[in-house]
Amino acid sequence: MKNDKCYLFPRLFLLHSLQNNREGLKVKSLPKQCNILEIEEKWQKKWEELGIYRFNWNDHKRPTFSIDTPPPYPSGDFHMGNVLNWTYFDILARYKRMRGYNVYFPQGWDCHGLPTEVEAEERYGVKKTDVPPGKFRKMCEELVEKYIGVMKTAIKRLGCSIDWTTEYRTMDPDYWRRVQLSFIILYDKGFIYRGTHPINWCPRCETAIADAEVEYESRKSTLSYIRFPLEEGGFLTIATSRPELIPACVTVAVNPHDERYREYIGRKIHIPTTTRTVQIITDEMVDPKFGTGVVMICTYGDKADVKTVRKYGLPVIMCIDEKGKMTSNAGKYAGLTVEEARKAITQDLEKEGLLEKIEPLDQEVGVCWRCKTPIEILEREQWFMKTRILTDQVKKSALEVKWYPDYMKHRLIDWAKSLDWDWVISRQRVFATPIPIWYCNKCSEIILAKPEWLPIDPKTTPPKTDRCPKCGNKTFTPEKDVLDTWFDSSLTCAVHAGWPDREDWRRLFPADVHPSGIDIIRTWAYYLMVRHLALFNEKPYKSCLINGMVLGSDGRKMSKSLGNYIATPEVFNKYGADATRQWAAAGGSTGSDIPFRWPDVEYGWRFLIKLWNAARFVSNQIKDYTPTEDAELQVLDRWLLTKLEKTTVRVTEALEKCQFNIALEEVRNFTWHVFCDDYIEAAKDRLYRPEKYGENKKRAAQYTLYKALYRILQLLAPICPHITEEIYYAIYQQQMKHKSIHLSCWPTPHKELIDEEAERRGDLLIAVINAVRRNKAERRISLNTPIKRLTIYAINKEYAESLLLGREDIVGTCKAESLEILPEKGKGEAIEKYEEIKFKAEYENV
Ligand SMILES: [Zn+2]
Ligand SMILES: [Zn+2]
Repeated sequence: MKNDKCYLFPRLFLLHSLQNNREGLKVKSLPKQCNILEIEEKWQKKWEELGIYRFNWNDHKRPTFSIDTPPPYPSGDFHMGNVLNWTYFDILARYKRMRGYNVYFPQGWDCHGLPTEVEAEERYGVKKTDVPPGKFRKMCEELVEKYIGVMKTAIKRLGCSIDWTTEYRTMDPDYWRRVQLSFIILYDKGFIYRGTHPINWCPRCETAIADAEVEYESRKSTLSYIRFPLEEGGFLTIATSRPELIPACVTVAVNPHDERYREYIGRKIHIPTTTRTVQIITDEMVDPKFGTGVVMICTYGDKADVKTVRKYGLPVIMCIDEKGKMTSNAGKYAGLTVEEARKAITQDLEKEGLLEKIEPLDQEVGVCWRCKTPIEILEREQWFMKTRILTDQVKKSALEVKWYPDYMKHRLIDWAKSLDWDWVISRQRVFATPIPIWYCNKCSEIILAKPEWLPIDPKTTPPKTDRCPKCGNKTFTPEKDVLDTWFDSSLTCAVHAGWPDREDWRRLFPADVHPSGIDIIRTWAYYLMVRHLALFNEKPYKSCLINGMVLGSDGRKMSKSLGNYIATPEVFNKYGADATRQWAAAGGSTGSDIPFRWPDVEYGWRFLIKLWNAARFVSNQIKDYTPTEDAELQVLDRWLLTKLEKTTVRVTEALEKCQFNIALEEVRNFTWHVFCDDYIEAAKDRLYRPEKYGENKKRAAQYTLYKALYRILQLLAPICPHITEEIYYAIYQQQMKHKSIHLSCWPTPHKELIDEEAERRGDLLIAVINAVRRNKAERRISLNTPIKRLTIYAINKEYAESLLLGREDIVGTCKAESLEILPEKGKGEAIEKYEEIKFKAEYENV
């Protein structure tokens, strides 16, 4: 207990230890059967009752540690990727708590979103545009509540040490209030503007989407070679994958260095399917090697078109509408879907002899990340947030943030630098935070809500002002668009800290850690960064903890559609949370993709059983033990305690660096092999036969068992919170008095307890014991068979000294009736050799 340098209540703690030394231990024997699932459920309930994970706002002594817990989207499925993510930061939360931090570990739900709208429509058989918005919201809210319930159960079953008094929902008007307030502040600061710009549009979801929401998929497509007639006769052939955009063609371009087309520059060319002619221009961006080297510039086929149109001030002809149908600008094709129009136009061109050929094409297509529909680029009036002006600041801040692993910072920086457009923050949806804006019906003046009006939905509440400040008109039209869901969730660092209500919110801001999946660095980590930089001119998080993707057993990303999906409850029901958490911690280095493999979880489960059996052994062996510090420690005791200190150092270092796999491997290796296989086996004889060895030596072994098991429990507690708590309560709680092992103080490694000599000597003794046991096993002799005479050959003086010191342990563990230690062997004798260990074992009848 001296090792417990307690940050919390050092004096109190010491007092308990002393008092209890006099009383002796009241250890309960652990039952033989370890029902892991029952134990886990019991502690999950109990922890909540005890309230031990609550953040204490009134505590100004302990340093704070705040976690920017991602509010998950309530899909109703807490998948193995979530398990990985939550395990990482729960380990961190528990570790920091034991290190004496006042840990703030909130949990919210990122409720708004398109998938819920789509599902509500399907489930209730309605179309969101046909029901009153309030009613449709209610339907969405009901769905969301149900899914939150499912996911909350999963988070609790994983044993996360969340402070549930902090729970919030972004669909609550109180959360809107904060989002809307940030909108107002950013508008006033000039970061938010309304404008007509090209935007990514999902025709299926019928909404604008941000660059971050566009995914790229390779798809099979076709390249059509189409003849564009020249005004003075002849034609140029243009290769395009989107003939349906020909009605929106605003110019035709060639590369200025392309000799083939030099003579055509400036000439007029006719746009098929229309009555228009355009002038052929040159542009460096045209790739002479693609297709024929002549391209049509349409509004808009891709982002390159947007650039060209801006550069040359070309007109914009939108021929696709919000639903993905052709507009009247497409002439006779109006009303057709994009696919239908493509077919019809191609047929017509063929009839007119303008279709030269069609080739297959492998293409990268931008698709909507939710529904995978190819996106269109449309020009619509939308609300934007200026983000590109912050790119230098994003880069600077990203470099200041500590990243786990370090190289992940480049993902954020590269993404920020790659952005061509500002963030489009308005959406054409229902279930979202309303934009607190009205427009004057007469002069179109923008009426922005005042902070004291919030939360407010302009669609149901008029502005709390009787006239337009510009023209005096008294009627207004509400803004019908709503805010991007990322606009809700990119405010979490400030909201978690208590902004804007708590005066002391800066105590928890910036967050100490922002945990995120590798796939959402470009959204979550990025939007948090720009948002908070714009609002507070400060980065929102001090460190960023990244988890990789979970792969199926086939090595592909785990997904329902690939058939390699494992549902979380199935894993919990089979092996429980502590085993699952071990899979997450040990699956790979932090940030790397990790495969889900049942054997890994099973291995974690077997480790728990091994630990349980060892603890049960300890509980039975220390019943008559009174903890003292003056034990007469033997070589192997000091050997174990030295290894324990060294393991503590390594586990601590690993956890400081968020290297969870290393931390767990260190504890598991120490527990399984050093403690169970080696030490306990070697100490048994001393424990069982005090009459032979003396009470002192038995007490030394009891002391060592008692001490080592407690340390193991502490080192393992952040990763396996349930079983460690159960064992702690059975053996240590009466003496240690902490309400929970999770409130005990992280062991401070004591370098002075490291005894290098004892470790060297102990290593040799254990090697000898293991060699003899292995030899017995290989010779198919039972481990309990006595050895009549055991002769060990020492290679040097220290070796011989060590053997002498550990003589009793060797004799006892190997069941040797006599032991002789000789210098290097004489000639001609039968000898066993295991690496450095040479010995001869003689048996009575073998
Ligand atoms: Zn979509
Ligand atoms: Zn007005």
